[in-house]
Amino acid sequence: MNIINPATEEIIATLTVDSVESLKKKYSELKDAQKQWANVSLAERVSILMRFKEQLFQEQSLLAATLTAETGKPLQQANNEISGAIKRVEWLTANALLYLSDEVLRKNEVFTEIISYEPLGVIGNISAWNYPYLVGVNVFVPALLAGNAVLYKPSEFAANTGLQIGRLLREAGVPEAIFQVAVGGGDIGKEMLKLPLDGYFFTGSYPTGKYIYEQVATKMVPCQLELGGKDPIYITEDINELKAVAEATADGAFYNNGQSCCSVERIYVHEKIYEEYLTAFLAQVKAWKLGDPTRDDVYFGAITREAHLRVLETQVADALAKGATLLTGGKVIKGRGYYFEPTVLVNVTHDMLVMREESFGPIIGIMKVKDDAEALALMQDTAYGLTAGVYADKQERALPILRQLNVGSGYWNCCDRVSPALPWSGRQHSGIGATLSHQGLRAFTKPKGWHLVGSK
Ligand code: NAD
Repeated sequence: MNIINPATEEIIATLTVDSVESLKKKYSELKDAQKQWANVSLAERVSILMRFKEQLFQEQSLLAATLTAETGKPLQQANNEISGAIKRVEWLTANALLYLSDEVLRKNEVFTEIISYEPLGVIGNISAWNYPYLVGVNVFVPALLAGNAVLYKPSEFAANTGLQIGRLLREAGVPEAIFQVAVGGGDIGKEMLKLPLDGYFFTGSYPTGKYIYEQVATKMVPCQLELGGKDPIYITEDINELKAVAEATADGAFYNNGQSCCSVERIYVHEKIYEEYLTAFLAQVKAWKLGDPTRDDVYFGAITREAHLRVLETQVADALAKGATLLTGGKVIKGRGYYFEPTVLVNVTHDMLVMREESFGPIIGIMKVKDDAEALALMQDTAYGLTAGVYADKQERALPILRQLNVGSGYWNCCDRVSPALPWSGRQHSGIGATLSHQGLRAFTKPKGWHLVGSK
């Protein structure tokens, strides 16, 4: 399998893809070793994962360079991603003892009632390329902390990074047989679904997630899906610092070239401030530099997958055919590398793909609304349910709107944000289940209730 640098179109590595046989062998090694890992004390597993965090820190420059080379992400954003992953591992390791240790719920002269959190066993993690460190650590760190063995399939667009992660975990002290990397694309992912894994944890698109959910349903094991979004924000007329809000929300839409699950994908602006917001938003988008992602001053790098350029072109053509106005961008940039102009569309409607389907690229549609009721109705009009944000002076205006949205995260005066202390979870086509927070630590366990009678 060739790994191509999307910024230069050069082949940067050729990897050997797993076969059905090698995958089965990895599974059987994981199965044999898992019980031993579960018997390692939780405190010891925590200290091993803390070493992994140290190594991410030690090797950050090398890892960021690899990430940029295979995804086209600006080097600075690659570094930010690894720093973010370090913070997540820090939170997960700091809280593992609190949330994974046995809990005594009730104790009297007759009964002792305890919950213990047993590992699921061997879990499969099929992962995405857009933030391989962040979406990776959300799954394999708590899974390992909880005593599971992990068959980890990085995306074929971030496979070098996946192999680096495997090496770092081994060097940190995770036994080789406990964390195994499966190399390959969708075919290898499909083969993983045939293995008798004890849980499936997937990060990726809705169509793939739906396929996986259907395929593994009859196994009766946990299947968690972290999928795409079409995340809306609403900017009310009473916000302070409109320019700063326009700049922050432009960043929410365009960071990582818009290739974030929780990117801002739809913007609704109150008519009283619409023109002013648009001017500041556009000024920010035009101020950012596009080009070689290894340069420090570049904000827009390359689009990771060449095929996705067609999706972006289709969304722009569809919007223009239905009456949208293009304020900037709209085209693939000719020449070496997969680059797309940052694109802002107005006069958009919900009949257009750009307001309905995940763009997952540097494209945004902005709509004028007359009041909160119209904004709410438009925000609700989606099959997805990952995040939503309201910018307003007071919580009492924003929170009632957010309460009526079927989303996993609600943002007041912020957007495109993940916290390790809070559950990361999608609803509807954005997925099922949660990672991060205490829920995310326990997602990799089976609770057992102990009813103990007697005093000895
Ligand atoms: P994708 O669905 O194309 O691929 C994801 C993974 O699934 C890859 O490893 C791929 O090889 C594998 N795969 C593909 N077909 C498969 C099949 N039939 N059976 C089993 N495995 C298969 O998604 P992607 O392009 O890697 O990622 C982008 C998507 O991920 C976007 O929709 C984005 O919003 C979403 N995402 C969601 C979150 C979240 O936390 N909710 C985070 C990051 C990305």
